[in-house]
Amino acid sequence: MTVRTRFAPSPTGYLHVGGARTALYSWLHARNRGGKFILRIEDTDRERSTEASVQAIMDGMRWLGLDYDEGPFYQTRRFDRYGEVVRQLLDEGKAYRCYCTRERLDGLREQQMANKQKPRYDGHCRELENGDASRPHVVRFRNPTSGAVEFRDLIKGSIRVSNDELDDLIIARTDGTPTYNFTVVVDDMDMGVTQVIRGDDHVNNTPRQINLFRALGKEPPHFAHVPMILGDDGKRLSKRHGAVSVMQYRDDGYLPEALLNYLVRLGWSHGDQEVFSRDEMIELFDLQQVNRAPSAFNTDKLLWLNHHYIKTLPAAKVAHHLQWHLEKAGIDTATGPDIEPVISALAERCKTLRELAEGARYFYQDFDSFDEKAAKKQLRPVAAEPLAKVRENLAAIEDWHAETLHAKVAATAEQLELGMGKVGMPLRVAVTGSGQSPDLGITLELIGKARSLQRIDQALSYIEARAAG
Ligand code: GLU
Repeated sequence: MTVRTRFAPSPTGYLHVGGARTALYSWLHARNRGGKFILRIEDTDRERSTEASVQAIMDGMRWLGLDYDEGPFYQTRRFDRYGEVVRQLLDEGKAYRCYCTRERLDGLREQQMANKQKPRYDGHCRELENGDASRPHVVRFRNPTSGAVEFRDLIKGSIRVSNDELDDLIIARTDGTPTYNFTVVVDDMDMGVTQVIRGDDHVNNTPRQINLFRALGKEPPHFAHVPMILGDDGKRLSKRHGAVSVMQYRDDGYLPEALLNYLVRLGWSHGDQEVFSRDEMIELFDLQQVNRAPSAFNTDKLLWLNHHYIKTLPAAKVAHHLQWHLEKAGIDTATGPDIEPVISALAERCKTLRELAEGARYFYQDFDSFDEKAAKKQLRPVAAEPLAKVRENLAAIEDWHAETLHAKVAATAEQLELGMGKVGMPLRVAVTGSGQSPDLGITLELIGKARSLQRIDQALSYIEARAAG
């Protein structure tokens, strides 16, 4: 049997990391088994669902590379189908019309609460003749009254719920609209879903859904309820803990590879391996190895992974994602060196793409002020002679490459009988504007000859002006 999994978000906000992890596990399970992954938009709550949210969820999935084979299906476009199944259940006597008024139900609830009983529908209309469709009514599912629902959750193990805990679920409201637990079952049935992988906030719905499947003459799919994600304080992960939206991580400078790798490990492990390429995840992922216990989100580990991928992914791939950040930072790479060697030069010192974009700025944009602390320390009158000398020596170079440049700076220091730092540091501040940069030879090579010389001149003027006080 072909594996078919689905991700079924309610479009009431952005794609958050919890939803993304559920989507990832569903996607991985399908890919691991050569199955199909379906996207279904559960938009029946018309007040809270928005088109912008559908877009945000799809943007998040695209950015993470979670491609789907079928869909997106929208529940609001399937009302005819839900109506058809409601009628089928009514015709077969598996559902019934309930005419109980709000007042009656409220009274019943109060009475049950007063008696310290669990509030539940008492089956008042269960045995009525089904006749009158013209009076206002809801439709209720005739839940079995005896026995129990038992299933083996692929993550949580055996779960058993007695039927006398479950009352007769409303499947269609007075206005005819179908309810959540019902639409999910009809969809999972029609779409041939074989494994329902979802957050464990839905585990209480599952016994009701299983009863519905059976009433419809279908074997229910397998279920895998994924434990929730906690913040560092042990409480359910929320905005209080920092970014929870997938696209916020993109904005903050994370690579999709890093977030995916982080999310797959959050609640799943394969020995003590931490780094997984996309192909490895697909090959090794196994629902049975997903933790039963909730996992805590650890931003430091995500940052570590991000840095790992910045350093190890092909620079062209990093460049693809960096482009967005460069544009946002107002940096036009047409005005300077190729971005790929700049990435290679900066990767060691930048943990996010945002830092990388900022770090790349001086390769593309001239500046007219220096980092204050660095200038105060390095661009002093004593630096004028070494800077002037190194400018003269660099100006003579035809072959503008890192090793030659490096050798020339060293030779200048020797010529002046100074330590390398006495030449190199002022030079670094002159050409980058700050006290930190990658290897000086590489930095000079990438900045280019004309620009480097012009920036040394600028630093010399600065020193002169400073001396003149
Ligand atoms: N639409 C539900 C949610 O966003 C998911 C339902 C399901 O996966 O069965 O929480």
